[in-house]
Amino acid sequence: MYDYDLVVVGSANADLVIGVERRPAAGETVLGSDLAVHPGGKGANQAVAAARLGARTALVARVGDDPHGRLLLDSLSSSGVDTAAVAAGGAPTGVALITVDPSGDNSIVVSPGANGRLTPEDARAVADRVLRPAPVVSAQLEIPLETVTEVVRLLAPGTRFVLNPSPPRELPAGLLAACDPLIVNEHEARVIAGDGALGDGPEEWARALLALGPRSVVVTLGARGAVTAEAGGDVTRVPSVRVDAMDTTGAGDAFTAALAWRLGLGESLPVAAAYAARVGAVAVTREGAQASYPTAEEVAAL
Ligand code: ATP
Repeated sequence: MYDYDLVVVGSANADLVIGVERRPAAGETVLGSDLAVHPGGKGANQAVAAARLGARTALVARVGDDPHGRLLLDSLSSSGVDTAAVAAGGAPTGVALITVDPSGDNSIVVSPGANGRLTPEDARAVADRVLRPAPVVSAQLEIPLETVTEVVRLLAPGTRFVLNPSPPRELPAGLLAACDPLIVNEHEARVIAGDGALGDGPEEWARALLALGPRSVVVTLGARGAVTAEAGGDVTRVPSVRVDAMDTTGAGDAFTAALAWRLGLGESLPVAAAYAARVGAVAVTREGAQASYPTAEEVAAL
């Protein structure tokens, strides 16, 4: 029996959002709306999404010893995420400075802050207590790559590793080989496979990514659903659920968290992805990232 259903290793950011009539040019100052502060970061988003679905979830992360860090710890705890492995201090909490214009286009500057100080040593410090007693560990790339590779090295032999390589970069072969699955959207697929190496259509993209070494691959396609592919197995199209999309922010994180959790419950990759597509569909019908994540009852009611 595991202590957790899912352990997420990743970033926690405060998203600072200001609405503007138009975004400023170099050297220019514009006045905007009142500031809105939302908990975000891909790691925190995924942990909250899983916990809201009912998964026993822990987050391994680093925040600053500051008000943004406390905001994040509060939002994680109130969603039911175990924060014992969220370290505090060493740098200010990561922030995303976001301006949004009336058309919905945004400009974002991210200061990784404490996320950039989540070290391999931090991972080693929680390995026995948090990383090893989990059937699934998931990560993204808003923390140092060497910390992600160390997490993989520390996992218990039976633990499944799920990677959403966002923001995307070229990945070492050893890390790719551990992914089961590697979860990417089209942009991430192109960066990881290298230009021109993907072929036509998402099924081909999934096969091309599989050839790079992961045990399985999921390509997410927004309103068009997803494709799953397993080494030595099938390529499967996962349909999306038709909904009136209102705000797609954080849909990918909700999808990844739900998929990782369901894999840990023993579901096959296509079945887990079909569930994750339902979670993503609910999330896009609501405003915001973490605020949009559904409970299992809400997913069942879709
Ligand atoms: P983001 O970076 O914006 O969080 P992403 O590009 O990583 O997202 P998407 O492919 O946009 O991820 O979305 C993940 C999943 O959520 C999709 O595979 C799909 O199942 C579901 N989804 C996203 N958008 C829609 C939509 N408009 N209608 C229905 N389902 C959607």
